[in-house]
Amino acid sequence: MTYDLIIIGAGPGGYELAAEAARHGLSVLLAEKNLPGGTCLNRGCIPTKALCRNAQLMSDLREAHNFGIETGEVRFDLAAAIARKDAVVAQLREGVTTLLSAPLITTVYGEAIITSPRSVSVAGERYTASNIVIATGSEPRDLPIEGANLAISSDDLLQLTQLPQRLCIIGGGVIGMEFAHIFHNFGSEVTVVEYCKEILPPFDKDIAKRLRQTLTRKGINFATGAAVTALKRDGELIAVCYDQKGKSLQVSADTVLMAVGRKPVIPQGAQELGIAIERGAIVVDDNMMTSVPGVYAIGDVNARCMLAHAATAQASVVINHITGGDSHTRLDVVPSAVFTTPELAMVGATEEQCQARELNFTAKKAFFRSNGKAVAMGEPDGLVKMIVDNDSHRILGCHICGAHAADLIQEVATAIDADLTVFNIARAIHGHPTLSEVITDVARQFSPIKT
Ligand SMILES: Cc1cc2nc3c(=O)[nH]c(=O)nc-3n(C[C@H](O)[C@H](O)[C@H](O)COP(=O)(O)OP(=O)(O)OC[C@H]3O[C@@H](n4cnc5c(N)ncnc54)[C@H](O)[C@@H]3O)c2cc1C
Repeated sequence: MTYDLIIIGAGPGGYELAAEAARHGLSVLLAEKNLPGGTCLNRGCIPTKALCRNAQLMSDLREAHNFGIETGEVRFDLAAAIARKDAVVAQLREGVTTLLSAPLITTVYGEAIITSPRSVSVAGERYTASNIVIATGSEPRDLPIEGANLAISSDDLLQLTQLPQRLCIIGGGVIGMEFAHIFHNFGSEVTVVEYCKEILPPFDKDIAKRLRQTLTRKGINFATGAAVTALKRDGELIAVCYDQKGKSLQVSADTVLMAVGRKPVIPQGAQELGIAIERGAIVVDDNMMTSVPGVYAIGDVNARCMLAHAATAQASVVINHITGGDSHTRLDVVPSAVFTTPELAMVGATEEQCQARELNFTAKKAFFRSNGKAVAMGEPDGLVKMIVDNDSHRILGCHICGAHAADLIQEVATAIDADLTVFNIARAIHGHPTLSEVITDVARQFSPIKT
């Protein structure tokens, strides 16, 4: 059968692309080998945020006495938390299924194999189209060390039936930190072992340090600058062996999470077709086209930015290219967040990146402890760092550690996307009392303030 577009993979890249293509009047074949919604909905963003909510509630209940509320003993039921998470996922998956029931979309289930630049086969059936989009996502990566198979992946951790007493997380990246926060609040003793000197390597160092210090105070253990060398059986436990500052050390745990990043999933036939692959990811140009004309690759599989909203934004770029429209999507302005307590969020360049590029910039900070709403909420721990170009007064980057950081960053992301200056934010009236005032607090430090 022949379509305008074949999409392989129904994650936030693939299913959003299918819906947008149908809105443009294109006929679409969408092939999915697992469940609609991809990693994001089934094993990533959504299930972790459902569990983050449980974790947050546990933390709030433990701290309720600070608000004059006595809750008695706080007990946690893992099975109930997992069931709620599964219900949230199922509800949202229904939404995706409804989206995919649009008249021009045909969804087929099975592994798609690329057979030519214009055809794929799924479950023995051959389909052809003018264009193919690979949106096959990514999967957890392992460390090539002895005993790596003793660790579990984030997919497994989301289905645990027993709460770990001691959880060791290898990797202090976004996924590692979110699980550290979740399981610490559930009652596990958590240790994070991170190779770099600071957790969350892509984040601004000040902000990442602030989070690590806060989580350390809450009781999470960290070993940074620590290279894991092997996992070994230690009676009932697993010993995570690592080198730190020339010393060989180890931490034992009943459960070990391997959270050292993700690798693209390359569909069968892609390499045979001559699609260029570098460092395990499909190479694409600015239109998301691969080295084979008419074949595109979006989302985690091209490893440009492994975030759900980046995959969706790249889908818009592809539609514009196929339909001859102009794409105004700025793929260089992608906010990202870590859903711990406090939250972390960033957009644009870090201070370290601005220094490395020898930019002429100024960085200023404002603190949540001076924000009325944050103090009233009992969330005074946090800061915003804004980095501004000294000549153009445009914002180069913004980094937040504090309550609702993931929502607060969006204002700055929009300002950067629209090429506004820091003065636009400084003079825009922000409601009181709101957390957003902390953004104006930092913006107003860049003088002169033009109102
Ligand atoms: C624990 C965790 C938490 C995360 N939290 C966040 C978050 O808070 N925010 C955020 O933005 N991102 C988050 N992410 C990342 C996010 O999930 C991914 O960036 C996003 O899902 C990528 O979308 P995608 O469409 O490229 O691929 P995916 O969502 O991975 O979807 C790819 C789909 O392709 C299918 N597929 C693969 N090969 C084939 C084939 N040959 N034939 C047919 N189907 C195939 C797969 O089954 C899958 O359904 C998280 C990830 C994890 C693991």
